[in-house]
Amino acid sequence: GKADIDCDMLVLGAGPGGYSAAFRAADLGMKTVLVERYSTLGGVCLNVGCIPSKALLHTAFAMDEIPHLAAHGVTFGPPQIDLDKLRAFKDGVIAKLTGGLAGMARARKVEVVTGTGSFLDPHHVEVTTAAGKKTISFGNAIVAAGSQAVSLPFLPEDPRIVDSTGALLLRSIPKRMLVVGGGIIGLEMATVYSTLGARIDVVEMLPELMPGADRDLVKVWEKKNVQRFDNVMLQTKTVAAKATKAGIEVFFEGAKAPATPQLYDLVLVAVGRSPNGKKIGAEKAGVAVDARGFIQVDKQMRSNVPHIFAIGDIVGQPMLAHKAVHEGHVAAEVAKGEKSFFDARQIPAVAYTDPEIAWAGKTEEQCKDEGVKIGKAVFPWAASGRAIANGRDEGFTKLIFDETTHRIIGGGIVGTHAGDLIGEICLAIEMGCEPADIGKTIHPHPTLCESIGMTAELFEGHCTDFP
Ligand code: FAD
Repeated sequence: GKADIDCDMLVLGAGPGGYSAAFRAADLGMKTVLVERYSTLGGVCLNVGCIPSKALLHTAFAMDEIPHLAAHGVTFGPPQIDLDKLRAFKDGVIAKLTGGLAGMARARKVEVVTGTGSFLDPHHVEVTTAAGKKTISFGNAIVAAGSQAVSLPFLPEDPRIVDSTGALLLRSIPKRMLVVGGGIIGLEMATVYSTLGARIDVVEMLPELMPGADRDLVKVWEKKNVQRFDNVMLQTKTVAAKATKAGIEVFFEGAKAPATPQLYDLVLVAVGRSPNGKKIGAEKAGVAVDARGFIQVDKQMRSNVPHIFAIGDIVGQPMLAHKAVHEGHVAAEVAKGEKSFFDARQIPAVAYTDPEIAWAGKTEEQCKDEGVKIGKAVFPWAASGRAIANGRDEGFTKLIFDETTHRIIGGGIVGTHAGDLIGEICLAIEMGCEPADIGKTIHPHPTLCESIGMTAELFEGHCTDFP
């Protein structure tokens, strides 16, 4: 039959990947339709991910800093927490950004269709909207349907057991909280809730917290954060739970399992995210989806069906907003006939904990595994005037360089604002900088970013003897 809407480009899902792809496609002159099941644009990142978590982490950071001013001779009373206002602040941040996106879509004449989309065949999607079903025919499509939190099937249905979305609702401040999963999302939420007054236990199956980051970085965070946690149970699993009136009774197994089950007011399950590939009717379009729900793509973000692309969390790790955005641009450009590729040398990762941990390019651990011969330099923030003035000199900056090519291939920062600082190292890696390129660049003094210049200068012979 005839479609309700015809377009050059259909984008399924309006997260960072989807809206970036749709905007780029429209800018390139394609008639673009953006399908999103939720009433706001922005996906997980803006609505229930990156942005609300950072709004709350900002609050927590300020709350944690204020007591330190006592040493400067300035004291304040104990915090009075109005959760309704805190929630309203967070929701206001989200509204500002999602509203901004809606305006940008209008300005570009991207048609937003609100409803759940599913492929009918390789050139049609059916969208179930509040006003009934709509069929959209398309020349090209980009699947940007994202991911959702993995749940543990053995946990009971109970409002006191939540995923990150539930935790961000901030319904109340629990007395005792269990965070299942010691990755970035779990530890960010642990930071927020502990600052707001919860006592926290963390349980992690692996032998370490924040897997993926170099241990030297994580150690600095650990040292500063011991007081946040009652019990960090590594190499331990949650195996069962019972919802009781007094709380959620949780059973553990493993190296650090407590002798008796533990009672919690809130359990956050942050054990990873799974892609939405199996929920979009991909088979009707002939798009291959693997057993876990990922869509395999090439470097131009094409699926096995050449005019159907996929980007973001649904195509694989790392599941990060900035990766999705760049993939979205590539997909839109390729659909328009440009010779674009996703060929990143590095994708940075940041834990917005306190202190923050950020890394880019190859980690030391990775270099060891891959047998890459490296040199490294570490600049301790105890020697940074700015870090000392900030009262936060526990961090350090690290650069990793390839002994063979003499180029910077990785770096890591732990310390306040590490996430805002890592961009320079990202650029250095992408541009193939040698240490001297960074070391001879004049950085502003006194700043935390000059620690990157100082680290580069530590490469003996590579900065002092400028060729
Ligand atoms: P998503 O953002 O998941 O968007 C997919 C969209 O598709 C959703 O809006 C969904 O409703 C829609 N959709 C799905 N199926 C359909 C359908 N059939 N029909 C219509 N619409 C559909 N990343 C960072 O880089 N930095 C961070 O600080 C960060 N913090 C995070 C904190 C939390 C708590 C969480 C959960 C995630 C965080 N992430 C962070 C990860 C980041 O949110 C994701 O990597 C990013 O949102 C992925 O973008 P995407 O476009 O692939 O998909």
